[in-house]
This record gives sequence, C-alpha cells and structure tokens, in this order.
Amino acid sequence: MQMTETQFSAIKQQLKKLVAVPDGFYAKKYAGIDIDAIQDKSDFEKLPFTEKADLREAYPLGLAAVPAEKIVRIHSSSGTTGTPVIVPYTKKDVEDWAIQFARCYEYAGVTPADRVQITPGYGLWTAGIGFQAGCERLGAMAIPMGPGNTEKQLQFMMDMETTVFTATASYALLIAEEVERRGIGDKIKLKKLITGSERAGEKIRERIISSLGVEYYDIYGLTEVYGPGIGINCQHGHGMHVWSDYVYLEIVNPETGELVEDGEWGEIVLTTLQKEGAPLIRFRTHDLSRIIPGECACGHNEHPRLDTLTGRSDDMMKIHGVNVFPAHIEEILQEFPELSSEYQIRISHLDGRDTMRVYIEAPGTLDWAQTATAVAMRAKSKIGFTPLVKIVELGFLPRSEKKTKRVFDERE
Ligand code: ZN
Repeated sequence: MQMTETQFSAIKQQLKKLVAVPDGFYAKKYAGIDIDAIQDKSDFEKLPFTEKADLREAYPLGLAAVPAEKIVRIHSSSGTTGTPVIVPYTKKDVEDWAIQFARCYEYAGVTPADRVQITPGYGLWTAGIGFQAGCERLGAMAIPMGPGNTEKQLQFMMDMETTVFTATASYALLIAEEVERRGIGDKIKLKKLITGSERAGEKIRERIISSLGVEYYDIYGLTEVYGPGIGINCQHGHGMHVWSDYVYLEIVNPETGELVEDGEWGEIVLTTLQKEGAPLIRFRTHDLSRIIPGECACGHNEHPRLDTLTGRSDDMMKIHGVNVFPAHIEEILQEFPELSSEYQIRISHLDGRDTMRVYIEAPGTLDWAQTATAVAMRAKSKIGFTPLVKIVELGFLPRSEKKTKRVFDERE
C-alpha cells in the first residue's frame, strides 16, 4: 500500500499532537517512542497497533484528544463483551463525516432529486445519523424512518416514492422478501440500495437485487473511525473506494500482524488523518478484506479499493483443526440456486468431538435428503470435513431487522 507525502505528513503531525495531550490515550500508549525518529512509511509501520480492548479501557472519555468543551457529540460502539467504546467528535469531525458520507452518495449516483429512506438505527451508534447527515449535505430528501415497523416502511416506500433504500443487508433481504410476498414490486420506485455494517454473501445480494430491481452499494465504516461512510463501491464493480484524504489503509496478516502485499487477504487496519476528537493510529478493525490491485474504471484511483468483506476475524470457527468462515458456507450455497440464501451454523461438542450442523432452507418440491447429501459433499471438498446438513422449510430460519446472527458456537 502506498503512502503519499500528504498522508505521511498528516500522520506525523497527528502523532506529535497526540503524544503531547496531557494524560492522553496515545501519550500513555506511545510513551517511550520517539515520534521525531519516524521518518518514513517503514518507521510508521513499526508503531504498535491500537486494539479495540485498548479503546474499551479508555472508557468513558479517555480517548478524547481535545478539551471537553471542544467535544460536540459522542457515539458508542456496542460491545458484545461488556464495556462500550465511547468515541468523542468535535464540530470538524461531525462535518468531515458528513462530507465523506455525501461523497458516498455521489459515488452511488444519488442526486438531490433522490428520496432516501433511512432504516439504520439512530442514537448512540453511528448508523442512522450518518446516513442522514450525508443525505442532507448532498441535498437529497431524507426520510428518517429508523429501524423496524416493516408495515410502515413499505407504506412510506410507496407513498413517498423512495428511490434509495438504506439498510443492513439483513433488513434489505427481509424487505425484498416482503415486497415479493405482497406482490407490490410494481408500486415501488426504488433504484438503489445502500447497505452497511454487515457483509452479505453473493447469494443474498442477488436475491435482493432481483426482488427489488436495485443497484447494490456497500458502504464501509465503523464507529471507531467516524462511522459508516468512509468508503463505498462505485458504479464500476464491488470494490469499495476508501477516502484516502481521511483514512490511511493497511492490510495485515491477522495472526502475525505482518503487512501483506496488495491483493492478498488480511485484516483491515486504519489510521485517521484528520480526526480531532479521537484520532486512531493503526487501529485493528478485525474486518477481513484485501486491497484490489490495479485501476478502477471510474478513474478515482486516489482512493484505494477494498474487496467485499469476507467477514470478521472473530467470525472464524476453528473446527477439526480447520479455519472455517461463514463466507465458505455462503459460497457453497451459491452453487445451489434452488436453495434460499439464509443459513444457520451451529457448532457443538458431542461425545468427545466437535460437530458442525448447517441448516439451510429448501422448497418442499425438492428432494431434501438428496439435497442435503449434495451440499454436505460440496462442503467436504471445500472445507475438508463433512458437516451435518439439515434442510428446513423456506422462511423457517429467523430474519432480522438489524444484523442476522447466523453462527452459534455451542461448545463450552
Ligand atoms: Zn471506482
């Protein structure tokens, strides 16, 4: 990954400022590191990573790199493991986030003539308000629904003639299935779907695209680094351009922390270039992706492209000594067009050995036993062991208005 001179000097400036904050997060973390000795990219790459656990320890406002009176807002990432991370924003941070989000909409071809229905949640987490601020900055019409209440969502979608729908992939799928079930496809005017905060396999995407007749855009971002909106795919493919004037991108081997070559898969590590409230240096996101090498047809090669996320390093299931990701199962389902896109994985420890059960949905017209065998055989050749494949009726597995939980590890 290249580092431009502008990026390097932004990082250097930021580092100097950060280690000078009295009792500040990086003043403590990087105590003993001579910032002046950082002369180039390779020196920067020796700096220790910032881990989510470090951020948690800074609760409540230990991440703040400015005096309290400069903080205009906080957001928080919901920790699945207890203490949340609190991210303070200055006025400039809030504006910069809206600028980046407006750019996302532009890349997706959204214009002031569009009507944007916003279903991600508002409040402590960064989703809804980011979608809204970017929309207003661009000048499109925001329809701030928030999550849930599918009945009202569909009514507004028709009555307000929504053209852009924003949601988690799970909720977009739920809406797509609902539109199909009610046969109201001809009453909606959707052109684009923008999803964020959750990866979706190819099969789920295709299902949504065909039911809603939309262009599919994937937005990238996380609460620790502004929120959703630091990157999006353009109209020339699925690679998500990440805004290089705001964020410096690295990909590392999740096990060793070593940088990998462009094009190789690994964990996304982010450094903010302009943030004031809570700048982050080499923050390990646990999101897995790769940098797509080469040029994009849109010409915006100043903003490098991330491939569709394959998942999170914490989603990895270790079973029979094999590393399995939900994406592997999705790729297998992709080969069986007659099956639905939903699945559920349950791992348990029975009679002294680990067992993986995969639940998939199939129509009643199919020979279930035969299908289960075919899927299990495909899995064996792909992941190296045979899971127990169980078929259930279409619509049996839970759908969600937020993120659908598809992996349950029931081992001790
Ligand atoms: Zn592009």
